[in-house]
Amino acid sequence: MRNCFRPIYRAGIPPGSPLSAGIKKIFSFSKILFDNGVFYDMIEAEHRRGARRKRNRNQLTTEGHTMDFEAIKKAAQGYEADMTKFLRDLIAIPSESCEEEGVIKRTILEMERLGFDRAEIDPEGNALGWMGDGEKIIAFDGHIDTVGIGNIDNWEQDPYKGYETEDVIYGRGGSDQEGGVVSAVYGAKIMKDLGLIPEGYKILVTATVQEEDCDGLCWQYIHNEDGITPEFVVSTEPTDGGIYRGHRGRMEIRVDVKGVSCHGSAPERGDNAIYKMADIVQEIRALNENDDAETTEIKGLVKMLNPQFNPEHYEDARFLGRGTCTVSQIFYTSPSRCAVADSCAVSIDRRMTAGETWDSCLDEIRALPSVQKYGQDVKVSMYMYDRPAWTGLKYETECYFPTWINKESAPHVQALAEAHRALFGEKRVGHPGAMALRDRPLIDKWTFSTNGVSIQGRYGIPCVGFGPGAESQAHAPNEITWKQDLVTCAAVYAACVGLYKGKGDEDVCVYRGGKTNNDIK
Ligand SMILES: [Zn+2]
Repeated sequence: MRNCFRPIYRAGIPPGSPLSAGIKKIFSFSKILFDNGVFYDMIEAEHRRGARRKRNRNQLTTEGHTMDFEAIKKAAQGYEADMTKFLRDLIAIPSESCEEEGVIKRTILEMERLGFDRAEIDPEGNALGWMGDGEKIIAFDGHIDTVGIGNIDNWEQDPYKGYETEDVIYGRGGSDQEGGVVSAVYGAKIMKDLGLIPEGYKILVTATVQEEDCDGLCWQYIHNEDGITPEFVVSTEPTDGGIYRGHRGRMEIRVDVKGVSCHGSAPERGDNAIYKMADIVQEIRALNENDDAETTEIKGLVKMLNPQFNPEHYEDARFLGRGTCTVSQIFYTSPSRCAVADSCAVSIDRRMTAGETWDSCLDEIRALPSVQKYGQDVKVSMYMYDRPAWTGLKYETECYFPTWINKESAPHVQALAEAHRALFGEKRVGHPGAMALRDRPLIDKWTFSTNGVSIQGRYGIPCVGFGPGAESQAHAPNEITWKQDLVTCAAVYAACVGLYKGKGDEDVCVYRGGKTNNDIK
């Protein structure tokens, strides 16, 4: 019964249909009823617990800082061994994007073992664990998929078997970012143990799928189809001990060029698509490398740091860092090796900063002199993503991942900052071996992209990051994370919800890319 959504697919009812949604509700409700057969006892016990929680909460949070931070730290430390075991189990189950079934089920098992009020798998295959019974939701998100291992020769030990020392846990997914899921699950457990869930709220821990393939897709599903809109979301991606309030966005752009083939012995009869693409590729390179001087014809993307070109958001762009573009793939068609190529296409990896939007990025390529010159023979477009989830569900979306930044003063950012200050002080903390990269402001930003692109970038749901591990470990061979980080994060998560002073209606956003006007779900 644990996996109460799965039988729906087997019964052949299309996921996402109203019927499926109805059955989901009945299943999850009847799960509580039938799993135990002591339904009324449970309800009564829950009421008693609720009343106790309320009393505790009043004690804990009335004066802001009367929360028992030592007890939270102690509880988190007490779970270090359990968190280590859970993480090593997750690492041992290979879980590349679209193949996360094993780790999702392992996560549900842990949630049930720890007494989550509800643990379920949605039709896209995301694990959703609930603690508490309020109307409003505070969510902790971690993607459970990992990238592959690359060249195995670069690993000193088995990336899936991994190992642990007194301080570190080794293996694919340790930092990016199964460790984050582990800390979030135990953070919620501590909240429940110590009665820290604020009145009127419930806690959602999501272990989400397909992030490495298509960041934010899972939250498009959770928001649009599961119908879940948290008051704010904490991303548990690795932050090197910092609290991160945004990152650059990105886009996958495709440029197609048409040509006309002919016999290679008389190339003048044809129109070589590769030559045309060669001109365009040089200008894409220029776009990345050029300066923005008055005399420069193709102004470089660095121009977005200049108030002259980005008057509204140049400061935000300076905070996030400039946008970039690079040609990442090239394709062609040609009738043979003895012919003129009749088509050529490239993919462009575009990182976007504040002030750049999906259409401004497409228009920028369309405005390149050679794209203009070849006119109708060139098509500039955005990729779509439609790889099926491990459940078989296909949820097509654009390969556009909007930029987002929050105000440092936003209540959800401050809730984390205050929890960190009260528990660990003003500066980033960590194992000595991790500190070289942590001599930076406590509140900062990611270099890479996260599910925040849809949580806040698309939907404007406030998002903030704090997660175990190091960004530099992500996608690298010999990936490690630190046991101390798992503890630190679980403690900060447990404390931050009670320190949240938002009403849910504040304007927290400095910048977000927003949705496109395409007719997707
Ligand atoms: Zn990640």
